[in-house]
Amino acid sequence: MRGHLFLLIGPSGSGKTTLIQEVRKVRPAVRFIPTTTTRKPRPGEEHGREYFFATDDEFDALIARGDLLEWQWVHSNRYGTSRHRFEEAIEGGVLGITSIDVLGGVTVKSAFPDDSTSIFVRPSSPEELRRRLIARGDTPGEDLERRMERVEMEFAQQGRCDAVVTNDDGHLAVALEQLLEIMAPYLHDLG
Ligand code: ADP
Ligand code: 5GP
Repeated sequence: MRGHLFLLIGPSGSGKTTLIQEVRKVRPAVRFIPTTTTRKPRPGEEHGREYFFATDDEFDALIARGDLLEWQWVHSNRYGTSRHRFEEAIEGGVLGITSIDVLGGVTVKSAFPDDSTSIFVRPSSPEELRRRLIARGDTPGEDLERRMERVEMEFAQQGRCDAVVTNDDGHLAVALEQLLEIMAPYLHDLG
């Protein structure tokens, strides 16, 4: 059986990581596929679990070797997806899930048109996003404002995704249900 990639797309704070954790609680066979970033780990994050954390030089080397299917500057850090990690997952029958920005998500989707589903996770408002990011521990200031500037661009691109999940404040369970429904045809194969 061929695997499938679920690309959770949306602005920082929209709830992608939370939804991935919730999906994995009910469907542990779904595997999170970490991407690579030059951002510093947040407290509690581990190399190879949330991300592969790379120095600028290491990231340059990945680009030079052609290892990255796509990469983006997101809020002054670089983030990229490994081509072979995705190929391996699909060929190996893995149901993989990952979090990616909208531009990267559209690129990955076009590289694996039949083997991936792009899903936009939409919060109810930019104000709610700001509140969530502060609650998550992001400090108000330049970095937070940079994240907020991207929100508008990401919202404008949501129509390019295969599906949209609404993650309203306090309604995580509804968002999870919507997401599981989109994933259902592939989860079915797991038995
Ligand atoms: P992302 O991975 O998209 O950047 P996170 O999953 O880290 O976003 O979520 C950002 C913050 O918002 C977290 O503190 C999370 O607990 C919170 N959050 C996510 N979904 C909801 C929701 N439906 N209602 C309230 N808070 C939420
Ligand atoms: P954070 O720093 O909050 O973990 O992530 C910032 C943003 O980068 C999020 O929107 C996340 O989905 C996105 N992102 C993570 N990995 C990748 C990647 O490999 N490529 C792209 N284009 N975006 C990514």
